[in-house]
Amino acid sequence: MRKNIVAGNWKMNTTVAEGVALAKEVNEALKAEKANCDVVICVPFTHLCPVAAVIDQTVLGLGAENCADHTSGAYTGEVSASMVASTTAKYVILGHSERRQYYGETSETLREKVALALANGLKPIFCIGEVLAERENGTYNEVVRRQVEEGLFNLSAEDFGKIILAYEPVWAIGTGKTATAEQAEDMHAFIRGVIAEKYGKEVAENTSILYGGSCKPSNAAELFAKPDVDGGLIGGASLKCADFMGIVKAF
Ligand code: PEP
Repeated sequence: MRKNIVAGNWKMNTTVAEGVALAKEVNEALKAEKANCDVVICVPFTHLCPVAAVIDQTVLGLGAENCADHTSGAYTGEVSASMVASTTAKYVILGHSERRQYYGETSETLREKVALALANGLKPIFCIGEVLAERENGTYNEVVRRQVEEGLFNLSAEDFGKIILAYEPVWAIGTGKTATAEQAEDMHAFIRGVIAEKYGKEVAENTSILYGGSCKPSNAAELFAKPDVDGGLIGGASLKCADFMGIVKAF
């Protein structure tokens, strides 16, 4: 059975002190009221150790927002999957559209990152999604199919089973413009079909597919009510405990 998951993506926000305070607050809220889904926060590299020290990862999972496409060595400024794992984090966002757009991440580099994440016991939250022009010219299904096929279909069925997918239409990220619940459901069902073609129905049914893009407490319940929407990857609204918990409570 696939899991319902709400994951926060803090991006490049908060100082260490602010991040620790926010993580503590979310952790306390989840201890006070048990969530009906898995809850994860993905935080900047600098925050992983201090946040790990103040949360209980049985109620609040911890992840990074990226990892390197090399194992170790002369890659100044990079942080490897094994370094992330050594902080006790269990998740890593890979292929976020901001990484693809601003840092030139390709399917080729992402395959390396996914392999290294899995080899180090991290669960990738693998992001896919079309830009506005592709939504408008009707090529969005093919674009997303290609991202899934090129980024992940080299994996064995066993390894694919460790992936969490996040469908994030780029036109909806940080814009306040959310995909309608119907648009999200159509795409999630399409993605599940693409997975079933390659790995079979059982693997497809067991894959969690999150929606991301201006998800907030006011629209989360409608999105999460759709049968193929298994939760959310939350940017802006994960930076305030009340908003993030409002989305968690949509389950
Ligand atoms: C994201 O960047 O993963 C995201 C979904 O951002 P926002 O919720 O702010 O649109």
